[in-house]
Amino acid sequence: AEMTVSASQSEDKPTCIIVMGMAGSGKTTFVKRLCSYLSEKENKSYNINLDPAVIQSPFPAHIDIRDSVKYKQVMKKYQLGPNGAILTSLNLFATQFDQVIGLIEKKQGDFKHIVIDTPGQIEAFSMSASGQVITESLACSFPTVIVYVIDTVRAENPNTFLSNMLYALSIMYKTKLPLVCAFNKTDILSHEFALTWMKDFEEFEDALNSDKSYLSTLSRSMSLVLQEFYENLNSCGVSAMTGIGFDSLLESVQKGAKEYAEIF
Ligand code: GDP
Ligand code: MG
Repeated sequence: AEMTVSASQSEDKPTCIIVMGMAGSGKTTFVKRLCSYLSEKENKSYNINLDPAVIQSPFPAHIDIRDSVKYKQVMKKYQLGPNGAILTSLNLFATQFDQVIGLIEKKQGDFKHIVIDTPGQIEAFSMSASGQVITESLACSFPTVIVYVIDTVRAENPNTFLSNMLYALSIMYKTKLPLVCAFNKTDILSHEFALTWMKDFEEFEDALNSDKSYLSTLSRSMSLVLQEFYENLNSCGVSAMTGIGFDSLLESVQKGAKEYAEIF
C-alpha cells in the first residue's frame, strides 16, 4: 500500500512510535518509561502491546494483543512451539488490524503519540509478513518513526554492535521509515564508545581486530555502507530504568516525524 499522510495532514495527527530491538534490549521497559515520561510532559500516549507472550505488561495498554489472541491456546490448537505460536498469534491479530486503526483514529484528537511494544524476539515482528502488514497500516495512517533499542552493555562487544547496526539498517531499508537508535541501559555504561565508533570507522576496526574474528574483512568491505547509514542516523543514549535521556529521545522522534512528513 502507498503511504499517504501528507505534511499538512500529519501536523494534527499523533506520531506513531514503533519500538523494536533484540530480545532483552529493554523494549518493554523503554515503552513503560516513555509512557510515563509523555504523560508527565504532555498528555497520555495511546499504548499498544503487540507481544502475545508477555506475562505481565508493565505499562497501561489501550490495545493489547493478548485480549484478542491467547498465545497458550494458539500453541495447543496448532501444535506449535513458542516461536511459531508468537508468529501465528501475530498473523491472527494482523488480520484485524484495520479495526485497530479505526479505534485509534476515533480517539486521535486526545493524544500526541502512539507507542507500540513488539514481541521479545526481534525477527518475529521485523521479518514477518504480519509485522510488515501492521507496520504499513500504521505508517499509512500516522506519521511513524521506528525506535530501535540497543543494549549498550552488550554492544560494547564490537560484533554485537555490528549485528545491531546491520539489523537497524535492514529494518530501515525494509520499512523505509525514519529510525532512531536508542542506546539503552546508559545507567550502566555510557554510549560514548558507540558514538566514537560511528564517527570513526578506524576506531571501530581496531576494536574489531582485537577480537580476532573472521568478521573484520567483511566489516571493512561494509564500512562505506555503514558510514552513510551512520551519517543520517538519529541516535541518543537513554536509560529506560532511570529515565535519563528521554528529552533528547523525544527530540529525535520529532526529527523523525519531520522526515516522515518530507518523505510522504
Ligand atoms: P525486551 O525483551 O526488549 O522487552 O526487554 P525488557 O524490557 O524485558 O528488559 C530486559 C531486561 O533489561 C530486564 O531485566 C530489564 O529490567 C533490563 N533493563 C531494561 N532497561 C534497562 C535500563 O535502562 N537499565 C538497566 N540497568 N536495565 C534495564
Ligand atoms: Mg518485551
